[in-house]
Amino acid sequence: MSDERAERIAEFVAPLRVEPGSKVRLGRDFDPRYRAGMKKREGKELLRIGVSLLAEYQQRLAAQDTYGVLLCLQALDAGGKDGTIRHVMSGVNPQGVRVSSFKVPSAEELDHDYLWRYALRLPSRGEIAIFNRSHYEEVLVVRVHPENLVRQKLPDDSRGPGIWERRYREINRWEHYLTDNGFKVVKIFLNLSKEEQRTRFLRRIDRPDKNWKFSAADVRERGHWDEYQHAFSEMLSATSTKWAPWYVVPADRKWFGRISAAAILAHTLMEIDPQYPDVGKAARKDLLDTKRDLEREAPAGAPADPYTDRHPPAGKKRG
Ligand code: AMP
Ligand code: MG
Repeated sequence: MSDERAERIAEFVAPLRVEPGSKVRLGRDFDPRYRAGMKKREGKELLRIGVSLLAEYQQRLAAQDTYGVLLCLQALDAGGKDGTIRHVMSGVNPQGVRVSSFKVPSAEELDHDYLWRYALRLPSRGEIAIFNRSHYEEVLVVRVHPENLVRQKLPDDSRGPGIWERRYREINRWEHYLTDNGFKVVKIFLNLSKEEQRTRFLRRIDRPDKNWKFSAADVRERGHWDEYQHAFSEMLSATSTKWAPWYVVPADRKWFGRISAAAILAHTLMEIDPQYPDVGKAARKDLLDTKRDLEREAPAGAPADPYTDRHPPAGKKRG
């Protein structure tokens, strides 16, 4: 891949990254309408490039079979998680991607430690896993609605004050462990404004084909807007790390959110820079022996190797 494209993507994503150790206040630090001076038409073109880059890098990731990638997507309701996943992954091989959505935990899930259900969905080597909501719900919805914590059946002494700080620490360590073992973690928060959320809720009500996406619970959650903004700000401040950074993606314009997400994932893959494996000299010699056997099987009149016949190596003329 040309360094120029990698550089352009690195430049594009840099302002969206949360500097590790910085103190984030969402309303003050990130504008949901930011679009890097870009027009929608340019954006669509960039998304197309991003998606094709992703396809190419994913293929290399799978072939190398050494690294895996975990992309966590968080947002408030109507933030655009589903549409982002649909667009970003539109060009990739479905065999190399695994999307998991996390809902209210089941009785079985509540019977384990809080990271258990997420660990079950981690990528394997060569794979990209996308978490549609993630272990970060454990410091978001669980924090805003403490009754969720009660359901987690924690022993008294691990439920007291300081629990959120402790969870941030545990999550950071868990992600560090994953990174050390070849699993790159990257996290995206789709940052929606309150007014744009109102518009999107109304659209879901006004359009019968969107009604299924709307739930009265979403409006109840909207009532906790400020508490969520606070929980998101604290989470971003505490868990954006050098090994697993958070990106705050402006989400009021869907097209910009999608480009950003594609660029962030592409950037992550480019940093890994996966390579097609080299089979080695001995295996290569065996391949060439087999090639000669296959060539000898050519029927009368057929080229010995129809493939090189159709795709002559560079510099050689077909003859
Ligand atoms: P949706 O993504 O719209 O299908 O909704 C999933 C719901 O599950 C949301 O209301 C989340 O807040 C909720 N949820 C996700 N994870 C958790 C969790 N760990 N504890 C409690 N509720 C959760
Ligand atoms: Mg919902």
